[in-house]
Amino acid sequence: MQWETVIGLEVHVQLSTQSKIFSGSSIAFGAEPNTQANAVDLAMPGTLPVANEQAFHKAIMFGLAIDAAIEKKSAFERKNYFYPDLPKGYQTTQLEKPIVGPGHIDIEVGENSTVKRIRIHHAHLEEDAGKSLHEDFHGMSGIDLNRAGTPLIEIVSEPDMSSSEEAIKFLKKVHGIVTYLGISDGDMSQGSLRCDANVSVRPVGEKKLGTRAEIKNLNSFRFIEKAIHIEVARQIELIEDGGTVVQETRLYDSEKNETRSMRSKEEANDYRYFPCPDLLPVVIEDSVIEALRKKIPELPEAKLQRFQSEYALSYYDASLLTELRSVADYFETTTKTCADAKLSANWIIGDLSAFLNKQGIPIEHSPVSANQLADLITRIKDQTISGKIAKQVFEAMCNGEGSADEIIESKGLKQLSDGGAIEAMVDDVIAKSAAQVEQYQAAEPDKQKKLLGYFVGQVMKASKGKANPGQVNKILAEKLAK
Ligand code: ADP
Ligand code: MG
Repeated sequence: MQWETVIGLEVHVQLSTQSKIFSGSSIAFGAEPNTQANAVDLAMPGTLPVANEQAFHKAIMFGLAIDAAIEKKSAFERKNYFYPDLPKGYQTTQLEKPIVGPGHIDIEVGENSTVKRIRIHHAHLEEDAGKSLHEDFHGMSGIDLNRAGTPLIEIVSEPDMSSSEEAIKFLKKVHGIVTYLGISDGDMSQGSLRCDANVSVRPVGEKKLGTRAEIKNLNSFRFIEKAIHIEVARQIELIEDGGTVVQETRLYDSEKNETRSMRSKEEANDYRYFPCPDLLPVVIEDSVIEALRKKIPELPEAKLQRFQSEYALSYYDASLLTELRSVADYFETTTKTCADAKLSANWIIGDLSAFLNKQGIPIEHSPVSANQLADLITRIKDQTISGKIAKQVFEAMCNGEGSADEIIESKGLKQLSDGGAIEAMVDDVIAKSAAQVEQYQAAEPDKQKKLLGYFVGQVMKASKGKANPGQVNKILAEKLAK
């Protein structure tokens, strides 16, 4: 039987606000465990929560970016459950009136990059819980409540994705939108963006959805891809062996590359949601929404289009350059200074990215600034150096040896365009290559082209790569023709 995969994602995005969602307590990452926990977020008796305006503003910006309706009257519920990282016994979240209503995010699928629309059911605001720490606690778990009360939006998609590739494309889009908006750092390694994948299968042609399993807390693109693959295989095998998929929550174990049941629907918590008696409903004024709309920057989608039309870049180059706003900004600064979009794109996608990836540093901390790279490109364009020598200069720039001009000067890398000097080298090479000269002069013209390469190579070598290749070719062809 042919099977079809159905995936719906719930994406948790940590909002980058200065303080927690229901208390003025500030947020500091990397602090000693429990030093950032505070009484309101632990619901100590006598404390009262107050909703954080910043968190609302960031959630609304997300809603506007995905064309969603903004709920003007937004309320909070308590979701009651016990877990060691939630000592207050409930999570304050939104159930009935989430701040962001239905919207959509488009992804490009297949070889022709056809647009596929993924519907967003809603996105709501909620507080994060603490963290359980399993390392360093032999036979026990540690609890760190620093994260308790930090603001999240949970983005819930409709079950519109049909492969792990689509799920990852969708997540990358979410990542791009929230980081372009500046509402989250989107750092998956720190848990700022993590997701639950709801996965089911059904026979091709079947309209009814199959029973889904939910894989919790996936925090890297690679794990999401692997977890979905292995879960789909598990479900298909189970059904083909005559079993049935049960609705349950599963955990992905990356070491064993398997998903394991965490809790089944029968044991599922009844969360006993009820409206939070301590927080009043929040009314959002139209003027607030309009002010926020004005703050929305150009988003990845629009930038991708513009990079192709304004700079004549390929779809591939433009998508690499617009994935991160920081890279897109770097590209635009470089291009503005050196006035060559294609060379800028090649250098950023090629040598610069390779260097940054190898060192594991983000472009914001690149040792070569956008303007410095532009200066290097300018020296290639005005033929001070060849593209090949430029690579050597770039490496020195990465090592902090100075600007392009300083390095070209101090290492004596200036391209040799002095006709006389090149001519002398050409004469020297010809004098030493009697056999090759004979072969060249006896060859047919189209063969000669190929044979010329040998002489060019010798002259370039003699000049330590500095001779202007155009001139070398010209002078050689003239001399050999005699
Ligand atoms: P819950 O409240 O239990 O998490 P929801 O109905 O809100 O359940 O659905 C949560 C997520 O599961 C959504 O992203 C939705 O798209 C997805 N989903 C629902 N049904 C299926 C299904 N049969 N297969 C795959 N995903 C599904
Ligand atoms: Mg769920």
